[in-house]
Amino acid sequence: MRKLIYLIVLFSFSSKASNLNSYSTSVTDTLKLPKPKLVIGIVVDQMRYDYLTRFYNKYGEGGFKKLMAEGFNCKNNHYNYVPTYTGPGHASIFTGATPKTHAIIGNNWHDKYLNEYVYCAGDENVNSVGTKNKAGKMSPSRMKTTTFGDENRLFTQFKGKTIGVSLKDRGAILPAGHTANAAYWFYGRNEGLFISSSYYFDVLPEWVNKFNASGKVTNYLKTWDTYYDINTYTESGSDLNSFESGFSGKSNATFPYDLKSLSGNGSNVDIIKSTPFGNSIVADFAMEAIANEQLGQDDFTDVLTVSFSSTDYIGHNFGVNSKEVEDTYIRLDKDLERLLNYLDKAVGKDKYTLFLTSDHGAINVPNYLKSKKIPAGYIDDDNLKKQLNQFLIDKFSYSGLITNISNEQVFLDRKTILAHGLDFEAIQSALVEELVTFDFIYKSYSAKSIKNGSFTNNLEYLLQNGYNQKYSGDVIYVPQPNYISYGPTGSTHGSALNYDTHVPLLFYGFGIKQGNTFQKTEITDIAPTISALLGISFPNGSSNNVLDFILE
Ligand code: ZN
Ligand code: ZN
Ligand code: ZN
Repeated sequence: MRKLIYLIVLFSFSSKASNLNSYSTSVTDTLKLPKPKLVIGIVVDQMRYDYLTRFYNKYGEGGFKKLMAEGFNCKNNHYNYVPTYTGPGHASIFTGATPKTHAIIGNNWHDKYLNEYVYCAGDENVNSVGTKNKAGKMSPSRMKTTTFGDENRLFTQFKGKTIGVSLKDRGAILPAGHTANAAYWFYGRNEGLFISSSYYFDVLPEWVNKFNASGKVTNYLKTWDTYYDINTYTESGSDLNSFESGFSGKSNATFPYDLKSLSGNGSNVDIIKSTPFGNSIVADFAMEAIANEQLGQDDFTDVLTVSFSSTDYIGHNFGVNSKEVEDTYIRLDKDLERLLNYLDKAVGKDKYTLFLTSDHGAINVPNYLKSKKIPAGYIDDDNLKKQLNQFLIDKFSYSGLITNISNEQVFLDRKTILAHGLDFEAIQSALVEELVTFDFIYKSYSAKSIKNGSFTNNLEYLLQNGYNQKYSGDVIYVPQPNYISYGPTGSTHGSALNYDTHVPLLFYGFGIKQGNTFQKTEITDIAPTISALLGISFPNGSSNNVLDFILE
């Protein structure tokens, strides 16, 4: 019966269509559906939303300000899950899904099936390409859903390319997705090369070898001084303070930094990663990729993902309020301008669509906040683990019931618990009750309550979106606001609070309206919006929320 109806509908449609003399033209029009030649997804690692506004007066006209003025600025854009780390962030931006679905639940996590601590982009089944060390044994295989780049590859019969570029492996691999033509990342140490993995190919393309041999990287081993007179950097704290780590080989974390001599203290070329020049190298390499892979040159939309990681290393080292961070954004603005000018020339103005966002924000150094009377503090993870273990010994008379604590999740040893006939749920609830008695812990939950709840807002919504039933832990806890598991200097991230969730979201170029909004948007809106712009399927696990107000 259903088949018959289908046939009738089909018949009536086709008879109607054949009556329209515009039928053939409409087919041709469909083939010429206007599309950008290239989509560039830029991630600035650890960029808080307020870096757009705090350093606004220091930016030039051709970088961040141009995107804000000519593109669409979503000013109230947030992460909608915890933990707010790099691996989950990059996966979520490009899949439009959260860890609940794409399964990148942290940068590293305890894999309860393998009983080992795994890395989000690690893959023992592939080999390094371009280096002899293990830094290339990477792939996106732990990510379980597709990116918009994957959907574009499927849609274009693999004629539209996808290339991922970053200093960090996970910053290149996860955004580019499963079907990427290539992902390239940086191996510093004593090599200073862009490398890849046999997941993509067995030898590096000739243009990559040429770039690696060009000496471009080592040329950045120069002096890092402020771009403008340091006295004009009124948007940040004093250069010399007790909240910054700095580099080994220099007693004070103050400008200028002689990178050539500091690199001799064991860090080698790696030191460049923790300076703005790491971003410059990525911009240089991205432009080479556009030229040599002919991105944006034919009728099939290509995708380039670029993740700037130095911002994260510098934030961790010097903290949110440092002169070093301010200078880094002033210089990133120049690299962005360089990239935009190059895209205008190589692909054509208005022929590409670009978005810029971040994988998470960052907290002001808690010791600094404390010095300003704002509640803040530190958590000693080892001590917490010791105390929880002792608690379980006292209560259940067994040791070693906890296999791992990571990403604020406690993994229990199910085997031991079952073998000794202990009550799994009783252990879970006891831990939940015990955890909230610690000063530095705000809330705790059993996995069951997160799994079975259906939350639409607040912290529980973020916890649920970050919770993957297959991979996540058995008990979850949430630290007090401004409490971090980290050293006494520098910033970090990971929480469900605004300093970590609120990140820029700028769209620019082909198909994008000019404007801005304070309407709340979520990080998982990006991938379906780009998919809608391209007329392709949404990534298979994505939220289906299209930001239609940004599209022309
Ligand atoms: Zn990050
Ligand atoms: Zn400093
Ligand atoms: Zn980080």
